[in-house]
Amino acid sequence: MRIVLVGPPGAGKGTQAAFLARNLSIPHISTGDLFRANISQGTELGRQAKAYMDAGNLVPDEVTVGMAKDRMEQADAANGFLLDGFPRNVAQAEALDEMLETEGMKLDAVLDLEVPEDEVVKRIAGRRVCRNESAHVFHVTYSPPKHEGVCDACGGDLYQRDDDSEETVRRRLEVYHTQTEPIIDYYKAQGLVVTISALGKVNEVTERAMEALQGDQAA
Ligand code: AMP
Repeated sequence: MRIVLVGPPGAGKGTQAAFLARNLSIPHISTGDLFRANISQGTELGRQAKAYMDAGNLVPDEVTVGMAKDRMEQADAANGFLLDGFPRNVAQAEALDEMLETEGMKLDAVLDLEVPEDEVVKRIAGRRVCRNESAHVFHVTYSPPKHEGVCDACGGDLYQRDDDSEETVRRRLEVYHTQTEPIIDYYKAQGLVVTISALGKVNEVTERAMEALQGDQAA
């Protein structure tokens, strides 16, 4: 299956993507994670991306599309993938369609995670992420780790992402509404969108997503 995950920052895309990718046996491809890996490795691409990310803006398409394409061309993605955070505007969605069309492929579904805005702000403000694995996500109030600052899953160091500050979150939400939300209509026109609520426990949302994707495939 080739799936795109969309939803505002804080919808739980990374968390859900990790579970869904495992259930569906396809790689989880997160452009945010790819950028963060480049930043921590000190690459030129990471250097270019960092200022945009810290400001809550999108990294330019020239940089992003090439990076996403390189990742999708790797062998493990030959039979499908779950895209998390890409595409993030209509130009990227068009580039992805072209890329797939060239290979005689197409997307199977676009899973839209819906969550009210006040919930998003609460989720992001308390979010703590593991340095080893970005899908290991905690929340200071909603799902605190057993030991403060330490990942329950792997013992890694928990930190607050630079772009999770209140000011940057506001900008990321604005960018989501103005630039990313239009891709939902773009994909609706292709009949690909399945929308689910991202409220509730993590495993409940995963179950809801699996049912929606399976129902969609049967349809
Ligand atoms: P994420 O981890 O998906 O929340 O992404 C963190 C940041 O990385 C975003 O706020 C953007 O600055 C950048 N980023 C991730 N994916 C993309 C994309 N597809 N296009 C442009 N910028 C992106």
